[in-house]
Amino acid sequence: MSDTIAAIATGGVVAAIGILRVSGDDTLTIIDKVFRPASGRPMSSYPNRQLVYGAMLDSDGSELDLCLCTISRAPGSYTGETTAELQCHGSPTVLRQGLEALFAAGARQAKAGEFSKRAFLNGRMDLTQSEAVIDIIHAETAEAAKNAVGQLSGAILHKTDAIYASLVEICSHYHAVLDYPDEDIEDFRLRDYEATLDDAIEQLTRLQNSFDRGRIMTEGVKAAIIGKPNAGKSSLLNALLGYERAIVTDIAGTTRDTIEERVRLGGVLIRLTDTAGLRSTDDTVEKLGVDRALDAARAADLVIAVFDGSAALTEEDRETIRAAAGAGKSIAVINKSDRSLVVDPAEFSGSFSRVCTLSAREQTGLDALEQAVAELFPTPNAPVGEILTNARQADAVGRALESLRAARDAMVMGVTPDAVLTEAEEAMAALGELTGKTVREDVTNRIFSRFCVGK
Ligand code: GDP
Repeated sequence: MSDTIAAIATGGVVAAIGILRVSGDDTLTIIDKVFRPASGRPMSSYPNRQLVYGAMLDSDGSELDLCLCTISRAPGSYTGETTAELQCHGSPTVLRQGLEALFAAGARQAKAGEFSKRAFLNGRMDLTQSEAVIDIIHAETAEAAKNAVGQLSGAILHKTDAIYASLVEICSHYHAVLDYPDEDIEDFRLRDYEATLDDAIEQLTRLQNSFDRGRIMTEGVKAAIIGKPNAGKSSLLNALLGYERAIVTDIAGTTRDTIEERVRLGGVLIRLTDTAGLRSTDDTVEKLGVDRALDAARAADLVIAVFDGSAALTEEDRETIRAAAGAGKSIAVINKSDRSLVVDPAEFSGSFSRVCTLSAREQTGLDALEQAVAELFPTPNAPVGEILTNARQADAVGRALESLRAARDAMVMGVTPDAVLTEAEEAMAALGELTGKTVREDVTNRIFSRFCVGK
């Protein structure tokens, strides 16, 4: 028995269409009160998934909107429960009134993520698929969206389920031999199982290694622009923000002067942090001092170091080069290419991952920067959907790997069978956590609280 939940599933803005969603045991009773098909027959008499035209009614029976309704009976729905959707005109006021009518008829407001949580609890999706739903909604690049869709189709689930099944096989054999020594059960064939464990370890290692790229795919590359005053940092920032292919959002940070700009370069989401100093035009002295440059470089995945190519390198430039060395990846931007260059780009190639020459002011050569970013953060050749994007999932994979390695070592060294069994079972528990087979309730609640209401 589940109570019946309802929510506005679409955004709270004026749009062509807005959707109200209902799920739970009383869905049909409630929808018969709130929706009257034009045919005069009750909605509950219609088959699953048929779109039916009619009127959405207020609790006093007056018409709130003319709309379409569809029902899906349990268990063949998103949540696994009987659900209904009302496709109304996209007026936030109408949707709000429709929702109130659903409440008056017996539904209650759904909590954030509650539809998807029910889908998980009813076995319609595993946890990696549920998390893929959040990732699709929040995807900021085409690549991230594609990978999330792959996970929704069960890419990670299928991979880990196969490993889980092979561990079940190993563990059951060990248990049988240990627990029923008198039965005539085939004796240990340890070396046979070693190959199975090796294969599982290899697959999970590949999955774990994809996490770095997965994190970048969803969270973006944390980048800092550094360089001496007047090198052209602000101009570059502005050029990037105004770049036709750039998507820009300002996100106010936790401190007053931390601004993060997000741009998409070469298909990669770049989070330019600490740009507050770059944007304030009255602050010409401070800009990005050496210490701040060092800190920014250390904290960044990518440093974009800007040099004035029209003037000889100075000691400050050399400090910038040293600071950039602290970052994982770095691009030297030789700016002001519209003037005659006096610095030789080749001089930087030893200290930087990539070097590009451009003019921030004239906005020429920016495609070289775009290409450098794309080369430094290439799309991994993992099949779509098999890139780990989620820290919780990566942690579970890491623990499974640790146990699998320990199990393999115990097996090879001929340690007592119990040791192998214990480790293999630990690995199974970690994999179970990944897909939600054994996940604890508080973890589940935490995961679904990240969803929006109506999802
Ligand atoms: P910042 O101090 O590093 O942020 O440098 P700014 O972006 O404020 O630029 C310093 C000066 O260099 C300004 O007068 C800019 O107009 C000029 N500047 C920036 N980029 C270019 C460029 O590509 N070509 C030329 N000729 N001047 C530039």
